[in-house]
Amino acid sequence: MSGSDSGAAGAVATPIGLTRKGAPAPAGNAPSLRPSTLRVPFHVLAKPTGPICNLDCEYCFFLSKESLYPGDRFRMSDDLMAEYLRQFIGAQPDGEVTVAWQGGEPTLMGVDFFRRAIESAESVRRPGQQLLHTIQTNGTLLTAEWCDLLARHRFLVGISIDGPPDIHDRYRVDKRGGPTSARVLRGLALLQSHGVDVNVLCTVHAANQDRPLDVYRYFRDELGLTFIQFIPIVERENETGFQEGDTVSDRSVDPAAWGAFLEAVFDEWVTRDVGTVFVQLFDAALATWCGLPSTLCIFRETCGDALALEHNGDLYSCDHFVEPDHLLGNITTTTMVELVTSPKQRAFGQAKANSLPAYCRSCAVRFACNGECPRNRFTLTPDGEPGLNYLCAGYKSFFTHIDGSMRLMAQLLRSGRYADEIRGILATAGRNDPCPCGSGRKAKACHGR
Ligand code: SF4
Ligand code: SF4
Repeated sequence: MSGSDSGAAGAVATPIGLTRKGAPAPAGNAPSLRPSTLRVPFHVLAKPTGPICNLDCEYCFFLSKESLYPGDRFRMSDDLMAEYLRQFIGAQPDGEVTVAWQGGEPTLMGVDFFRRAIESAESVRRPGQQLLHTIQTNGTLLTAEWCDLLARHRFLVGISIDGPPDIHDRYRVDKRGGPTSARVLRGLALLQSHGVDVNVLCTVHAANQDRPLDVYRYFRDELGLTFIQFIPIVERENETGFQEGDTVSDRSVDPAAWGAFLEAVFDEWVTRDVGTVFVQLFDAALATWCGLPSTLCIFRETCGDALALEHNGDLYSCDHFVEPDHLLGNITTTTMVELVTSPKQRAFGQAKANSLPAYCRSCAVRFACNGECPRNRFTLTPDGEPGLNYLCAGYKSFFTHIDGSMRLMAQLLRSGRYADEIRGILATAGRNDPCPCGSGRKAKACHGR
C-alpha cells in the first residue's frame, strides 16, 4: 500500500531541490505557489482504487476508509478519470503540472487504465503546460509492461520501503500476514532496470526509529536510491480510523526518537551526501532557512492546497482527512475550482495557522515547523493549551540541531554558491577547532567525527 505514507503535497517528491547540484540560488521571499489571476494552482492526490490495496500494512489508516463507501467496488471509471483530468489540468497555470496517483494501491487499476489516463491528460494539456506524472505504489504488482509505460512517460515513482527486510517486513505484510520485502525489491529492481526515476518513501515507526543509519545506508548503498522521503507514523487509536483520540498505537514513532532519527541521518547526509542524495525533509527545511516557504505543506503556516480525490469523484480537503466532515463535494456536480476555492476549504487551510498554540508562536524554530500538520496536533502544551503537535519534542530537537548547518548552506546559496560545498567546509575543520556548523562544539565532537 501507499496509504498512510502520504504527505499530501509532498507525497511524491519532485527531484529538484535546493540541495541538488545546480539548483538556483533562492531570491528573497517567493510565493509558495505560482501567482495567477486566471488559474487556481492546487495539488490533488487521485485515488483510483480508493483505499483498496493488495497488502495489509498494519499501520495503514486507509484500510479503515473502506467503511466510508459500503458495498463499493472502488474503481474509478474512465469517464470520471477524463473529467477529473480535464478539470484539474484546465485549472492549473502554464508550466509544470503534477498529475499524482496514489491509493490504496493504484496499480490495481491495471496498466491500461494508466495508458488511457496519460492519453486523456495529454489531450487536455495546453501547449504551455508540461505534465509530470507521479505514482505512489508498494511496488509488488509492477511488471516489465508497467515499467515500460512508466519509463516512456517519465513517471516519478514513489515506492514504499521501510528499510532492510527485517524492518520492512515487521509491519508491511500481505493479506495473510506474510512478508512483502522480496516482492517490493523485485519491483524496485524492475523500475531501476528500466531507468525509471524512483523516490523511496520510508515510514518511521517503532520498528525502525532506533536504526536510522541502517535504514539510510541501506537505501543509499544497497539499493542505490538517491531520493528519500521519511514519514513519521502517528497512528491514533479509535474506532473510526479518523483523526480522533489522543492516544497512539504501539507502532507509532516516539516523538524524541523521531527527532533523533532525523538528526542521525542528517549528520551523515550533511557530511557526505549533500548534492548527491535528496532527502525531501532536509530540502524543505533548507527552503525555510533561506526565507522561502517550505516545499512541504506540513511545515507551512497555512495549508489547504493539497486535496484528495476519491475513486467516485468525491473531493476531500486533504488525503489525511478523507472523512465525512472534510468532504467538499463531488466534482461531477460542482467544479474542482469551486470546491478548492470554497469558504469551507479556505477555512480548513487557515485553521492550521489560527489554531497554533501560543507555545508554538513563541518557539524559536516555528519558522521551520509551524506546528507541523494539524492531524498530529492532539497533545497539550506545558501550560495546558490543547493543540500541540504530538511530535513537538522531536521537531524542536531536530530543527535546533540542524540550525548551524542550515545557516551555512543558506549562506552558500545566497552568495551564489552550492549547498553541497558544506561538505568540504565541514571536512577541513581541525579536530579541536569549533565545528563550522556553528554548534559551539569542537569539530571532533560534532561534524568532524
Ligand atoms: S492537513 Fe494540511 S498540513 Fe496536513 S497534510 Fe493535509 S494539507 Fe498538509
Ligand atoms: S517545535 Fe514544537 S513548539 Fe516549536 S513550532 Fe514545532 S510543534 Fe510548535
